[in-house]
Amino acid sequence: MDLLEYQAKELFRQMGIPVLPSQRIDHPSDLKGLKIPYPIVLKSQVRVGGRGKAGGVRFVENTIDAVAAAQTIFHLPIMGEYPQVLLAEAKYASQQEFYLAVVLDRTIRKPVLLGSIRGGIDAEATLEHIQQVVVDSEFSPFYARRLTVKMGLKDKLIQSVSAIIEAMFKLFSEKDLDLVEINPLGISAKGEVMALDGKVIVNDEALGRHPELAELASKMSNTLPPYMNFVQLDDGNIALACNGMGLTMATLDLVRFAQGKVANFLNLGGELCHDVTPATICERIEKGLELITRDKKVNVVLVNFLCSTISCNLAASAIEHFFKQREESLQQRQLHFVARLVGREFDLAKEHLSALRIPLFQDLEQAVNRAVELAKKA
Ligand code: GDP
Ligand code: MN
Repeated sequence: MDLLEYQAKELFRQMGIPVLPSQRIDHPSDLKGLKIPYPIVLKSQVRVGGRGKAGGVRFVENTIDAVAAAQTIFHLPIMGEYPQVLLAEAKYASQQEFYLAVVLDRTIRKPVLLGSIRGGIDAEATLEHIQQVVVDSEFSPFYARRLTVKMGLKDKLIQSVSAIIEAMFKLFSEKDLDLVEINPLGISAKGEVMALDGKVIVNDEALGRHPELAELASKMSNTLPPYMNFVQLDDGNIALACNGMGLTMATLDLVRFAQGKVANFLNLGGELCHDVTPATICERIEKGLELITRDKKVNVVLVNFLCSTISCNLAASAIEHFFKQREESLQQRQLHFVARLVGREFDLAKEHLSALRIPLFQDLEQAVNRAVELAKKA
């Protein structure tokens, strides 16, 4: 699970990693009560990277500009994700920007320290200068120093950057994290250091041991379980729910090829995870349908599942359960469902769904064509 920047910075603060004074903004009007002096930077709190390049990071000098910029950022999706909150932060004058990270290398099963003297938004330059140190036995400050020397740092910076890497490592191991990243670490003209952006990935298996992280996770509304991916697109009226990323992307492709416009798509996750039972799959289907139909632009839902753990009929009954519970509001909205299922008990599923007037297909192309046809009529 990825934390948002403001949550990562909260952890940095607790660890003594220097961060700027900042304030969470839930609504543009919150900026009228801002306690940080201008100029400030406003930052979209989405989990994906590349916010700087996408226009999700804006510098402003006064309240009027800040409110306008906040309105723009709240309405700007970044790789399909809209921010629920923004972060307002004091502006920092950096002369250089470094990249720092502690990450678990899964092939060698050891933590690795990464550092580059060319941090910031130019990922190519960062990679070109990247240095690494494998932490192959118990951690000591020596590892951090070694990374700074490999990065080519001198004098005072060796000291101050090493101290930050040590604190990052402490955070990484104490909280069982998969990644701690600072990009950029701003270096001022006087050689002071400041974490300007932070990324923390929590290991989902370790949430049970860290109730404080589990609470942070629960605060993030619209957070999906890690095996699901949901992408909201800008326009369109067809919603897709599929299982497995490959199937999801192939379906998206076919709908577009048939000249359909997709409003959003959801990958419910493959069926091959260790802890999946028929009951959890049905629950996922219902939760997934709930999520993709929240968008009022949606007129047609196309469900495409390859059923293996469950039968087609069980998948159909999950769809039916969702449908029956909301029959009235779905009819008012004129929401059409189209299903494509592959697996056991197809005929039973077909009977089941035809009672609800939901067309069921075995052939994907037929299902896609029907969905696009219905969407065009709507
Ligand atoms: P990302 O593009 O999603 O990684 O978002 P960042 O938080 O890294 O912001 C993009 C860029 O904006 C950074 O690489 C910095 O160059 C710049 N930036 C972000 N915050 C500050 C700040 O407080 N002061 C200054 N001067 N630059 C900042
Ligand atoms: Mn960044």
